Amino acid sequence: MMATTHVFAGLAVVAPVAYAVPELASPLVAGAILGGLAPDFDLVLEHRRSFHFPVAGAVVAGAGVALGVAVPSQLTVGVAAFAVAAWLHAVSDAIGGGPEMDPWNDRSERAVYDHVRGRWVRPRRWIRYDGAPEDAALAVVLAVPTLLVFDGWIRAIVLVGLAVSLGYASLRRRLVAWLPDWLE
Ligand SMILES: [Zn+2]
Repeated sequence: MMATTHVFAGLAVVAPVAYAVPELASPLVAGAILGGLAPDFDLVLEHRRSFHFPVAGAVVAGAGVALGVAVPSQLTVGVAAFAVAAWLHAVSDAIGGGPEMDPWNDRSERAVYDHVRGRWVRPRRWIRYDGAPEDAALAVVLAVPTLLVFDGWIRAIVLVGLAVSLGYASLRRRLVAWLPDWLE
């Protein structure tokens, strides 16, 4: 799934909360964006393993939400949004494809690592690869709540993210051909 799809998923979760409690909108949005992106920073380590916690992350997300509800503040709510978005990212990697750039010729059976059971979760491929048409469609759907709830810079960021996503998705298959061999 595209990074933007992950970010829009996190934002879609916090959007109703931000609507109900607008004074906490900024930490909710910041937490959701960072949490949606953060797991993939393990690209430089062991991708889809080092910072991806599809099972254990649920506990952290639950604890974060409990803390945010019990002691609501900019910090606790931001941390909760981060934990939930990062967990959602890791879980949803399992319904996508593997991390390979070229799933047509080189399919991986490693979607995301489950640290609790100590094994790789296989890709379900409901979203066949990042930038697939269904990925772009999901990104659009997930962006809707955010566009409805927010205005100003948040809406601008989401619209730019949508434009980048649709551009990427439209070029995705050609990108593979342009990539140098060593990068694949
Ligand atoms: Zn990921």
